[in-house]
Amino acid sequence: MSTDIKFLAGVGPKKAEILNKEIDIFTVEDILYYFPYRYIDRSRIYLIREIDGNMPYIQLKGHITAFETFGEGRNKRLVGHFTDGTGIIDLVWFQGAKFIVDKYRTYSPYIIFGKPTVFGSKINIAHPEIDAYIDEASRPVGLTGFYNTTEKMKKHYLNSKAIQKIVHSALVSTLSHIDETLPEHVIQQARVIELKKALRNIHFPENPAILRDAQFRLKFEELFYIQLNLLQYRSDRKKLKGFVFSQVGDYFNSFYNQNLPFELTNAQKRIIREIRHDMATGEQMNRLLQGDVGSGKTLVALMLMLIAIDNGFQACLMAPTEILATQHYETIKELLFGLNIHVDLLTGSTKKAAREKIHNNLLTGDLQILIGTHALIEDTVQFANLGLVIVDEQHRFGVAQRAKLWKKNTRPPHVLVMTATPIPRTLAMTVYGDLDVSVIDELPPGRKPIQTVHQYDKKRGALYQSVRKQLHEGRQVYIVYPLIEESEKLDLKNLEDGYKHICEVFPEYKVCKVHGKMKPKDKDEEMRRFANNDAQIMVATTVIEVGVNVPNASVMIIESAQRFGLSQLHQLRGRVGRGADQSFCILITPYELSTDTRKRINIMVESNDGFEIAEADLKLRGPGDLEGTQQSGVAFNLRIANLVRDGEIVNFAREIADKVLDEDPDLSTPKNLILKRQLKKLSGNRFNWGIIS
Ligand code: ADP
Ligand code: MG
Repeated sequence: MSTDIKFLAGVGPKKAEILNKEIDIFTVEDILYYFPYRYIDRSRIYLIREIDGNMPYIQLKGHITAFETFGEGRNKRLVGHFTDGTGIIDLVWFQGAKFIVDKYRTYSPYIIFGKPTVFGSKINIAHPEIDAYIDEASRPVGLTGFYNTTEKMKKHYLNSKAIQKIVHSALVSTLSHIDETLPEHVIQQARVIELKKALRNIHFPENPAILRDAQFRLKFEELFYIQLNLLQYRSDRKKLKGFVFSQVGDYFNSFYNQNLPFELTNAQKRIIREIRHDMATGEQMNRLLQGDVGSGKTLVALMLMLIAIDNGFQACLMAPTEILATQHYETIKELLFGLNIHVDLLTGSTKKAAREKIHNNLLTGDLQILIGTHALIEDTVQFANLGLVIVDEQHRFGVAQRAKLWKKNTRPPHVLVMTATPIPRTLAMTVYGDLDVSVIDELPPGRKPIQTVHQYDKKRGALYQSVRKQLHEGRQVYIVYPLIEESEKLDLKNLEDGYKHICEVFPEYKVCKVHGKMKPKDKDEEMRRFANNDAQIMVATTVIEVGVNVPNASVMIIESAQRFGLSQLHQLRGRVGRGADQSFCILITPYELSTDTRKRINIMVESNDGFEIAEADLKLRGPGDLEGTQQSGVAFNLRIANLVRDGEIVNFAREIADKVLDEDPDLSTPKNLILKRQLKKLSGNRFNWGIIS
């Protein structure tokens, strides 16, 4: 299994190098685990008259009547007219015309294979696969797997068929040596087929039923080991002793009775109860709090910090940006007015004298709540008795940062990570399998749902009319652009141009401007102008995405909305709708949009629900390139399981992993030897557990 791929029959050093570079395949084992992404029933031959617009890859049998060349330069293409007696389609090539014309004869029988595209009454297949027709008896029957290949691979004749041949020779030479990777008792409990059978049938399925069994076995195994690792990690962590917050005292109660400006939502109450309980058990809490934008997480954070100080501990709240930290500080100071609680703010721009004073007050224990940026977990910041750390809007709060926290007291403080990026359940279980997850699933009452509108960029005139109306009524407006320079030759609206344009369209209002390349000081200054209503329009890039709260802003305009991911659009939209007024989000795009983009925009128009949007995002993009996934730091590439479609297998794998660990927490019995060995192997290569731990 560990033999270098280049020694496999038909590969050699040159192809091996391409396989290394393009798809990360180095060994025989790697190629055996390079699974087809789909299967085609090659026993079926379609008729041209049966073709409609939604067909996947199909086979046709017929002949080419003539070749023709169309277009000039980059538009040049070769067309082969192909018929089977029931209709005519065009086979189209954009490259390699000479090769094709030389290789294929008109009027000889071929089997062609490809994905048909329908334009009105015309059908074509671009770059079809063509084989000489062989009689029924010797043609392949059943399902044929298709493998992903890159352009570069295709150029070197490493197409799907070539990969299939390599896999075949890998199977022939190793099948008898393949070691089972699941212990017998797990195979029994999960009722999965053995590995050899699964590997053979995932590549060369004997029939659809066995293919399903093979897929199930391999998906199960992949998810099972992830769960096993996470659960084991979690039980190790549970052995850590945490501080016991046994009481709710005067600080909490006075705040609740005198200062709380509104009734808590039921969700806020439930979460506070849940976390209060967590912090009283004697275990160290590690919890993720998810709550849609505007669900009131800050207030929850504050009340939990009050519980910490009621028990004689200090608490800190960490935000990703200076702007956000400052805003939290101001909000919290106002909320705590008159309660005689010492709160302070520490960021990168805190002056030396003030910083030293904070350091001192932390050490004496006089300073009870510290709010700030990453600056507050630096080693120079020492606490007298830190008991609770709350991390706001930070998805990648990894092991390195946590380790820093753990050194800040005799025991690790409780940790709560808050995020507005909704992570679908199946994903949360895989990504945060070792954390406890709470969800605030309710918005404070009286919020009017944001109205979202899709507008083509040609219709700006009408749009500015309604924006002006909002401005006249005293509201403020955000306008967001995807890029700040026209660097990438993409036809994007430029922030600078946009700024000038907006100043011209709205001369009677003040416009401010924020982007990522500004100095933090200038950025803060511009943000402050907007927050104080000294500027009514803010033109910005996505730097305003996270957390900022200006309740008077009621319009969010997103330029070139097609360039943004769904989660990002939802985050941006969450910047408005924070006050009592009706708010609007306007998504501007060109008229021409791909089907997927149009779907995404429609989801935004139809739904205000972050979880629904995250699920849809996962479905449209697949978890591989999911923005939310990146942010949440999924630590592994799944080879076969799909977190959206295979949610049930995730649950099932978790149950079985749970059982196994229940019986044998350290996996030290002989029957679990395989598990130990596999975990070690997996943590050595594909998994980076550090990110999620
Ligand atoms: P997020 O969860 O996005 O961080 P915030 O904590 O910024 O949300 O809260 C959004 C707004 O909702 C704030 O202006 C806050 O004062 C308000 N808010 C929070 N909880 C409630 C509540 N129970 N009732 C009414 N308004 C609330
Ligand atoms: Mg917030």
